[in-house]
Amino acid sequence: MKEVKIFNTLTRKKENFVPISKNKIGMYVCGPTVYDFPHIGNARPLVVFDVFFRLLNNIYGKNNVTYVRNITDIDDKIIASSKEKNVSIQFLAKEVTHAFHNDCKYLNCLKPTFEPKATEHISEMIEMISNLIKNKYAYEKEKHVYFSVSSFKDYGKLSNKKPEQLLAGSRIEVSKYKKDPLDFVLWKPSEKNDPSWDSPWGRGRPGWHLECSVMGEKFLGKKFDIHGGGLDLIFPHHENEIAQSRCANKVNNYANYWMHNGFVTFDKEKMSKSSGNIVSIFDLSKKINGQVVRLALLSSHYKQPLAWSEKLINETKKILNKWYSQFEKVDSDDLEDDILQSLLDDLNTPKYISKLHSLYDESLKGSKSSKKKFNKACNFIGLLEEDNKTWENFNKSTSADEFVDERIKERNKARKKGDYRLADAIRKELENKGIVIEDTENQTTWKYK
Ligand SMILES: [Zn+2]
Repeated sequence: MKEVKIFNTLTRKKENFVPISKNKIGMYVCGPTVYDFPHIGNARPLVVFDVFFRLLNNIYGKNNVTYVRNITDIDDKIIASSKEKNVSIQFLAKEVTHAFHNDCKYLNCLKPTFEPKATEHISEMIEMISNLIKNKYAYEKEKHVYFSVSSFKDYGKLSNKKPEQLLAGSRIEVSKYKKDPLDFVLWKPSEKNDPSWDSPWGRGRPGWHLECSVMGEKFLGKKFDIHGGGLDLIFPHHENEIAQSRCANKVNNYANYWMHNGFVTFDKEKMSKSSGNIVSIFDLSKKINGQVVRLALLSSHYKQPLAWSEKLINETKKILNKWYSQFEKVDSDDLEDDILQSLLDDLNTPKYISKLHSLYDESLKGSKSSKKKFNKACNFIGLLEEDNKTWENFNKSTSADEFVDERIKERNKARKKGDYRLADAIRKELENKGIVIEDTENQTTWKYK
């Protein structure tokens, strides 16, 4: 059986992935808080964990992998955003969830096995809080319930920091009811007119971290294999999830492997709402084919930061324009194992993409089987699954000149290296597009037929 390696945030090591049970793989990834249109930073975990889901499906079989991605539909941010936009919370959550689903389709992501919503799990959250209070891991004060961080000795293990370092390094909510500044809220009263539910501690609503503990357990069990999300979720969100779940469920481990993707940056600045550097996926979808965005998001290793720029988009467009010339509909289920090597190694997508480039060159040289192999390998990471005619319609605005110049450069490189088969294949590729090239002594020119 193929073996996958994962860099585990919890141990800070690359480890062989050993599932709890080979026919019951569980992966939980924190989903969106539906308060505003998802942006390109939100798109990265979607695409990264989608490829990882495809890989797990390939190794363990589609029916043996459960992928859970939640929707946070009650939260301070949603309440604030609904007031700002002057719409109801329910309306806002529904609209943004709808937009999010369109974005997932646009990015060609498979549907997760389950997509539970926080508001559908309030009673289970109340149950978990009661359990934590009963066992002295949490306390009530003035209709608020807090988790007592000092009651959990492993707090800070995921971030690899001591409590005092955590406290110094981040903005912690201040409250006069907390016994310790690191304690975090499990339940709090709602303000007038804000959504609220009955509980033993009065009408109110849950703290954000609780929902993932509850839904993780409901769909995957008290212990499961993989938990994923963006780097910014390590502390406090994931640290708090671990504390809640391990104390409530009396287990010595919650998720065995923790995977975190890096940020998407603009001009080397972390993308955040406050810096105004937001590109919504919806805005991108009006201008760029989703395949371009998908490939661009996979061009860096998932743990590394990804610099989002016009240049990246244009270069990715050129690559796909080229690749689509070898498009063919194929049955992608029987992919040769050797192709997956780089993905098995902690989802090394840049290495996989360079393999796609060489498979493309092979397929240009002509044999039917190499063309199939190239298409299957593209399909595996969710590329080239749509008809190339649609692609061409979408790319009418792409500059043909640039494309031809690029290809001529590639051909000259091949000739220099003595790879005349590839050079010939590129000539034919251009011929099929109605372009004739001519070599003179020191340069290559081209014209339309
Ligand atoms: Zn979460």
